[in-house]
Amino acid sequence: LVRLRARLARSQNSLGKGLLTLLSREHLDEDTWEEIEDTLLTADVGVAPTQELVERLRERVRVLGTRTPEQLRTLLREELLHLVGTDFDRAVKTESGLDTPAVVMVVGVNGTGKTTTTGKLARVLVADGRSVVLGAADTFRAAAADQLQTWGERVGARTVRGPEAGDPASVAFDSVKEGIAEGADVVLIDTAGRLHTKTGLMDELGKVKRVVEKHGPLDEVLLVLDATTGQNGLVQARVFAEVVDITGIVLTKLDGTAKGGIVVAVQRELGVPVKLVGLGEGPDDLAPFEPEAFVDALIG
Ligand code: GDP
Repeated sequence: LVRLRARLARSQNSLGKGLLTLLSREHLDEDTWEEIEDTLLTADVGVAPTQELVERLRERVRVLGTRTPEQLRTLLREELLHLVGTDFDRAVKTESGLDTPAVVMVVGVNGTGKTTTTGKLARVLVADGRSVVLGAADTFRAAAADQLQTWGERVGARTVRGPEAGDPASVAFDSVKEGIAEGADVVLIDTAGRLHTKTGLMDELGKVKRVVEKHGPLDEVLLVLDATTGQNGLVQARVFAEVVDITGIVLTKLDGTAKGGIVVAVQRELGVPVKLVGLGEGPDDLAPFEPEAFVDALIG
């Protein structure tokens, strides 16, 4: 975790540090506030959250009058934390509360890191003593099922797969069936993410969801977004949210961008929390999203 924090800090601190430097100017004139706004917008925080934050900062700085660097740091930390949100439930639901496995569906556009995230999540769960079944319902990308199975073999989880280009819903159905038969704790279903036709995606994911629900409730639908795609990620989020009820966001490749503001923008867009972050390609590079650690990393 310490190592992950260090990596997050390296990639993110330009936003927080930049804000702190600007706020520390002796005269906070209009140009400076504009620069603060630009810094936030450049980091993908989004227009409305940026305006809100700047308004709150202006008011608090005004009330403060003369200010020490330590006061400014505390103030910025509090306001960034407020922006990121501290009262979301960010735990991934991996207990069904029934005697059947919890079912977690992982959705997102191809290339965002969906399969990798599914594998990493399986690894975390198995390390925690939970038994996991993987469902390779991304039957359209030829290598996806192999990739998932490799993860499964590595961590000790069975992978249910179907014929190449087969019906994703049927694989999803079979994987939950297998999970129930094995008495597994969690079934993780990797889905296909071709976005070229919205109705195609809608039909497919809708069907996957429906067949899974024949066995029981769907406990979690995680949307995987690539943090480096910025505003494009928001467009994707919107499309997926129309198709399925997203319950949590996984922001991958946060190691490769200083645009950490996307955390704020996407939560705002979907009204659901970022639950996990991907901080690299390695098997251990998936971490729970912790607002405090994130904000501390931003400020440096
Ligand atoms: P999928 O098509 O959405 O299933 O994407 P994959 O899981 O195959 O991942 C696409 C690429 O992104 C792979 O090269 C992964 O190693 C890489 N990747 C996934 N998550 C992360 C991350 O958090 N950080 C970095 N740097 N790379 C990642």
